[in-house]
Amino acid sequence: MAVNARRRGAQRHRVVQAEAGAGGRNLFDMAVEQFHAAADRMGLDDNLRRILGVCQHQYTVNFPVQMDDGSIQVFEGHRVQHNVARGPAKGGIRFHQDVTLDEVKALAMWMTWKCAVVGIPFGGAKGGVTVDPRGLSRGELENLTRRFTAEISPLIGPYKDIPAPDVNTNPQVMAWIMDTYSMREGHSVLGVVTGKPLTVGGSEGRGEATGRGVVYAAIAAAKARGLDLTGAQVVVQGFGNVGSVAAKLSRKAGATVVGISDVTGGYYNPRGLDMAAVLDYARANGSLGGYPDADRVTNAELLTLPCDILIPAALEGQLTGANAGQVQARLIVEGANGPTTPEADAIFAERGIFVVPDILANAGGVTVSYFEWVQALQAFSWTEREINARLRNIMDQAFAATYRTAEEHGVSMRTGALICAIGRVADAVTVRGIYP
Ligand code: NAD
Repeated sequence: MAVNARRRGAQRHRVVQAEAGAGGRNLFDMAVEQFHAAADRMGLDDNLRRILGVCQHQYTVNFPVQMDDGSIQVFEGHRVQHNVARGPAKGGIRFHQDVTLDEVKALAMWMTWKCAVVGIPFGGAKGGVTVDPRGLSRGELENLTRRFTAEISPLIGPYKDIPAPDVNTNPQVMAWIMDTYSMREGHSVLGVVTGKPLTVGGSEGRGEATGRGVVYAAIAAAKARGLDLTGAQVVVQGFGNVGSVAAKLSRKAGATVVGISDVTGGYYNPRGLDMAAVLDYARANGSLGGYPDADRVTNAELLTLPCDILIPAALEGQLTGANAGQVQARLIVEGANGPTTPEADAIFAERGIFVVPDILANAGGVTVSYFEWVQALQAFSWTEREINARLRNIMDQAFAATYRTAEEHGVSMRTGALICAIGRVADAVTVRGIYP
């Protein structure tokens, strides 16, 4: 009884956390609300709304892992496929203590739109395990990854559903997923997962692709809004795979990075942070904690610092009705998935703050994942220069199409991107027809 009560308490805590993370909103409700706002604008047929407003497959697993102390812990994980009309499902796997089924469903739906907005032939999926991986040893992390892979293996496969990295998962985790799946198949299946290390079929440029795409989107947005990127002040929330690369490449593009943050808090230097020193420090120490050449601010304060461009690249639900009024940036380029609630979106629209939405701004990762998958299926590899040039081309085209659509319909870039994406998915569903 006591154990069950504790477990129920923990589950309630997770739901509260997930909702608090989305500014007090259920994340899937937020994704569905965004979908209907765009569907209204484009006059989407009711039948298509019914199909696209839900997730096609959602799979929850509870699985045991042997811990180093000999005990067995049971973890909950999910794999969700929102829609596969345009091709195999594609989407990352995250390990985080606040993962819930509704969060994974929202992220899967956004993946469908993201793949469609950049025109790559995938549907949307997402996966997650409710765990704080910082509390695991390397061996426990490997056991958890392998067992979760085995549990979701009926769903995944190079022509069915291809996972990738997300929060707290990395190329090593992808290599374990590939190996586990391959052991079950009896041969190496390089195309089952992307974001792998180069030695086992990873792609040049994949590690930096999401952050690089964010910076390409920022460059396009700055140009569209008449903002000179040289000397523009940039603030980045989150200093992981996406945020650290976005900060590094923003500096390389001529901007001044004045604020950064990670789970240890925010670091502000109005004269500009020395990005090479910051990156060295984070590499050596595992986080930004204690970085000396900056003023300390909280993560909440970081979002409202004076700057031209704000790049949220941590978690969802960071920009809400409560803080959107104090944001000082002129451009927001969403590195994270779902960092802005619909309430904050409305405030930004009213205040003339230009938001490049997640499904466009952070699509660089899935785009190069697509390149990695193509290279795996062909057993052929491209150079980093080729990868980056192809990525730039796709990001620029997607930005231009979204901008055009937003102007034509008189809507935000988010709704413009959704109109482009939903239109493509709706066309695929329509032309395929309903089986049987
Ligand atoms: P990551 O685990 O590499 O990094 C996350 C970063 O956020 C870390 O620096 C962490 O310390 C920081 N962080 C965590 N909680 C925070 C908080 N409350 N305030 C400030 N910082 C906090 O994850 P990532 O892969 O960089 O993903 C970041 C976001 O980008 C997520 O929303 C993810 O879904 C999205 N995304 C990632 C990819 C990818 O290719 N990795 C692709 C598209 C979108």
